[in-house]
Amino acid sequence: MTNTTRYTRQLPLFGREGQIKLADATVFIAGAGGLGSPVATYLTVAGVGELIIADDDLVQESNLNRQFLHANRNIGMKKVYSAAETLSALNPDITLTAIPERITPETIRGMTKDADILVDATDNFATRYLLNEAALDSEIPLVHGAVEGFSGQMTTVIPGETPCLACLFPHSPPERETPVIGATAGVIGSLQAMEVIKYITGSGRLLAGRLLIWDGLSGRTEYLSLSPRQDCNVCQKHTASTS
Ligand SMILES: [Zn+2]
Repeated sequence: MTNTTRYTRQLPLFGREGQIKLADATVFIAGAGGLGSPVATYLTVAGVGELIIADDDLVQESNLNRQFLHANRNIGMKKVYSAAETLSALNPDITLTAIPERITPETIRGMTKDADILVDATDNFATRYLLNEAALDSEIPLVHGAVEGFSGQMTTVIPGETPCLACLFPHSPPERETPVIGATAGVIGSLQAMEVIKYITGSGRLLAGRLLIWDGLSGRTEYLSLSPRQDCNVCQKHTASTS
């Protein structure tokens, strides 16, 4: 990190030391869609050293009300390549690894093995459960976010310290396409990026063991304290393997 002019306005918050931590960090982002757009954008401009982004979808016109990583001209392109084009134009200093593949039990380990922290910017529980297991296996944090309509939620899973995502959501809700306004994904995705920056630079207090629930229509934010579920099979498996 030779030139810090770009980061002038944030250096007073965590010093050159914090900026170096950001430059040395690798963040895995699952999804280059509605949440992935603000997450990847804010981490890119903050100077996170490497972003690994996985998504096997193509850009569709119906994505564009919220997925601002993708320009109109990129309809039909793999989302990760469209995202890399946008992000590298924003900050040429960062390394972008675009993975145009589906996240499966077979592929997830290879995708996440170099990451310091994982971000759930997906829209389905099958992938969320895989991310949860990968986080617990590798003992790295997972920042979960989800949006629907005008509201959303987020929390950070710290393996060994907080309840896991399967404690919180023992059963996958039915998969369905839900309406969403872009600004909702903007709020929750920005909170996720904030959480990653806090974690890497050691700033503030993480939303670990707390679920933030944001209701855009009423303008209210609530916090739920999370408890581990005694019969969580994911936690049980990991406690058994580490003890
Ligand atoms: Zn659990």
